[in-house]
This record gives sequence, C-alpha cells and structure tokens, in this order.
Amino acid sequence: MKPVFNLNDIECTAIDTSRYSEKKIKLLVARLDTIHPVVSGNKLFKLYYFVEEALQSTQKTILTFGGAWSNHLVATAYACKVNGLRSIGIVRGEAAEKLSVTLNDCIAYGMQLKFISREQYASKDDEIFLQQLKNEFGDCTIVPEGGYHPTGARGASLIMDMIKMHNADYVCTAIGTATTFAGLMQQQDAAKKIIGIPVLKNMTDIPERVRYLNNRFVDESNLWTDYHFGGYAKYNQALLDFMNELFTNHHLPTDFVYTGKMMYAVIDKIKQDFFDNHSTIICLHTGGLQGNGSFAAGTLVF
Ligand SMILES: *Cc1c(COP(=O)(O)O)cnc(C)c1O
Repeated sequence: MKPVFNLNDIECTAIDTSRYSEKKIKLLVARLDTIHPVVSGNKLFKLYYFVEEALQSTQKTILTFGGAWSNHLVATAYACKVNGLRSIGIVRGEAAEKLSVTLNDCIAYGMQLKFISREQYASKDDEIFLQQLKNEFGDCTIVPEGGYHPTGARGASLIMDMIKMHNADYVCTAIGTATTFAGLMQQQDAAKKIIGIPVLKNMTDIPERVRYLNNRFVDESNLWTDYHFGGYAKYNQALLDFMNELFTNHHLPTDFVYTGKMMYAVIDKIKQDFFDNHSTIICLHTGGLQGNGSFAAGTLVF
C-alpha cells in the first residue's frame, strides 16, 4: 500500500514583479498551503516515507514529538488518520488547563497525547528513552521532532517533482529544521540554486544539519540569514505591512512565522537587483496560515 495524500498538481500563483524591478523576472509561488487548511504542506511531504514504513509494518503506529503549537504534530495526526495508522504525540511540558487549538486538532484526528516535562523532553532522541516509550506504547515507527531525519528530507525532495517543469533558476524556502531545504537540495539539478531563508536568529549550523540529512554541501551564499525579524515567531510592523501589501497587490496570504519572512526576503532581493534579467524564481508557500489566528482582528487585511 502507498501512503495516500492529496498531493495533486500544486497550483502556482504568479506575482507581477514590475512594481519592484524593471527586469523581467518570473516569480511563482507554489501553493503547498492549499493542500490542507490546517496542515502545512511541507510537513506532509516530510512524513511521506515514514507513513510508507508504518503502513508496511505490523504495528501500524507512528510516534512523534512536538510542542503545544507544533505544525508537525498536527500534520502527523492528520497523515495517520487518512492512512488508517495509530498516532501517538509526545508533547513538551505539562498539559495546560485549556489545550491549544493545535493539540485539540491532534486529538480530533485521533492522536493519543502524552505530556512530559521539559527536562524529560530534552532526551527525546536518546535510545534508552525511545525504548521506554516503545515499552509503554508498543513497537512503532518513531519520527523525530519536526521530521528532522534523512527519511524526512527524502520525502521533502518529492516537492521538487511537482515544480520542476517550471525550470526555475531559483527555488526559495523558509528554514526551520532545514529538512525541507535539504530535501530540495537532493534534486538540485532541477534548479540552478536552492535558497534558504532561516526564520530563527543565529542559526549557524545549517551546513551540519544538511550533512546529517543527506550529506550535501551547502554554499552559504545560498542562505539569506538577515530576514529572521528578531527570531522565531518574532515580527515587527514592517513585516505585517509587507504581508498586507502582498495580499492587497497580489492576493497572496502569508504567515508571520515562515512564509511572510521568506517572501519579504525574495522581494527585497528583487528590489536590490540581485536576480538576473529573465530569471525564474519559485517560492514555496509551505503553509502555516492558521498561525495568523493569534493576531487581534484587523491586524491583517486577510
Ligand atoms: C515547519 C515549517 C517550515 C520549515 O520547514 P523545515 O523543514 O523544518 O525547515 C516552513 N513553513 C511552514 C509553514 C512550516 O510549518
């Protein structure tokens, strides 16, 4: 049996760049966000081969890790539900009296949750701890937090199959764990350059991460490290204004944690004349739009 995801041809939104540059630049946004309203598209790709492995196993169970707002956790719960797998989520920190929207979504998709202390969570990659979890829940396919594993990168590389017909010169993505970025690099020949925009501050270990994920060499000039806006989930008015403009001018909704920062970086580089005339750029809209729900009404125009 193959993992069933609804990964039909991904639609692309074309962004008219004439207001940013006189050069002819073709800018396409691959809308992985349209795959599902809650589940980030790139997360499903990262899970692809883990799901395949679990489907082939006898225990048909996936166990994974995340915080109370983890896009990865809810993606796993969803992928397991549609594939008829059992899912177990190990959650960082004690259960709050009122569970987060994300955790309620996980439960709605049938995920069994276990809350552990932050101290215990720190050993989430230790063999002994993982064996204890298997003793408690039975044998299972274990997915590291965020899908950060060579198997996750291999799944993310499938994204390239869906966009390579555009013959892009540049493929751009936001970087969290760098698993998606590494996956794209796995099919490097399909584009001249894979660009990563870290959304965390001082993320200096991306080359090591990619070496672990698929043993590729990262040219650090392809990492645009100045667009984190202060760090993970940090933002300022300039970012919000930009996101509103992007929606008003191009009908493109973005989120403030990942895709807003990535698009800000790409448009900024267009304005700075970084790209050659007649370049084709594809930006991955990885999803995350539900995160904007944390803003007061009226902050965003969409
Ligand atoms: C998780 C996530 C990312 C980052 O992906 P990594 O593979 O961890 O680098 C980007 N965008 C969205 C919307 C995400 O949820």
